[in-house]
Amino acid sequence: MAASQGVGRPSPKVKSFILKIASRCNIDCTYCYVYHKGDSSWATKPKLMPPEVQKQAINRISDYCTAHKLNEVRLTFHGGEPTLFGAREFQQLCEYAQKNLPVDDLRFAIQTNATLITSEWIDVFRRFDVSIGVSIDGPKHVHDRHRIDHQGKGTFERVRLGLNALREAGLSFGALCVIPLGQKPLDVHETLLDLGFKNIDYLFPDVSLKEHIQISKEFGPTPVADFLIPIFEYWWQNSSLDTNVSIFRQIAGIVMGGVSINDTLGGEGCPYIFIETNGELEGLDVLKICDGDHGVSGLNVFDHTVEDYIRHEGLASMALRGDIPKPSLCSSCPEYTTCGGGYLPHRFRPTDSEQALGNFDYPSVWCADILSIFDTVRSNLEVSVSETILRRKALARVKEKRSREGS
Ligand code: SF4
Repeated sequence: MAASQGVGRPSPKVKSFILKIASRCNIDCTYCYVYHKGDSSWATKPKLMPPEVQKQAINRISDYCTAHKLNEVRLTFHGGEPTLFGAREFQQLCEYAQKNLPVDDLRFAIQTNATLITSEWIDVFRRFDVSIGVSIDGPKHVHDRHRIDHQGKGTFERVRLGLNALREAGLSFGALCVIPLGQKPLDVHETLLDLGFKNIDYLFPDVSLKEHIQISKEFGPTPVADFLIPIFEYWWQNSSLDTNVSIFRQIAGIVMGGVSINDTLGGEGCPYIFIETNGELEGLDVLKICDGDHGVSGLNVFDHTVEDYIRHEGLASMALRGDIPKPSLCSSCPEYTTCGGGYLPHRFRPTDSEQALGNFDYPSVWCADILSIFDTVRSNLEVSVSETILRRKALARVKEKRSREGS
């Protein structure tokens, strides 16, 4: 099954594992890539990750840490909705991980819709210092358009109760907000600030080319940029507010010559692995929006090691290693090295190509938005494309010197 990777390239160190401990969700967001983008594999998986899968997953990660002398690991609990797993079971899983992972720096994180937060969950979050990410789309009238329950009712008030409980317990939490196209950006941002979020990330909607054509008709050619730029300008002018907006920090960092901190921009690879409730090893689950099984490796924690997955020949493993070439159509773009073609699932086009890679050899559907946002960040930072390139070269030299001195 395993295939060798590019000659001479070292394996990336994977320090981030995403455990899908629940494959179902208590709510039913209309845009969800798990349930509403044509992939129904969730229905065949256990509703909750069984104990034998939990233990085997941790044991595989442990073996990997030992073999690679890793001293830090981040375990992120995802779903579906991970709080369906149960607070007591979650506590036992964290205890098992603490006991069995041979690292000094073990961090836990959870991505939740915050509608099922109880005092038991709060105790566990506190005890294991779990970093809490909450999915929310802004004010009630915006949030409740898409984030609805299985009866079609909006969930904002239930999220607000969950946030209140977390805040009263003194826990901090970050927001993940899927960019609500066509909505008033500052209304959304100020609502998130009012709700107590200090860390906010705005996500580009995960859409296919077909959906994007419809979106352009409805909202114009750059609806993501139209939403993000006013928030960037507000954030830039109010930096004393001490709020982190991840996407802006990421773009500013890249523009200043740094490398991308995640796989949404830069084309550098995505060193994290998903483990499904049935133990399957997967990468980049958003690939579910693309026709075909591009994220499916066929590997699982019972029969395969983490290293098997990293070396696998499938598209998701190639993405993990950073082995997927940037789109050829992007080669003359000034942001070629900084944007890198955008997020892999957004580069998909259904083509007749016999190789999966051929379907991803296209610029992001959000290309025009990305260019517009980079342009705005550049003019505020007063850093041109050529200066970014010079800074990158200088930083690469420093890195090389340090690694020579360290060796
Ligand atoms: S901005 Fe567009 S053309 Fe440029 S690298 Fe990104 S996706 Fe490609």
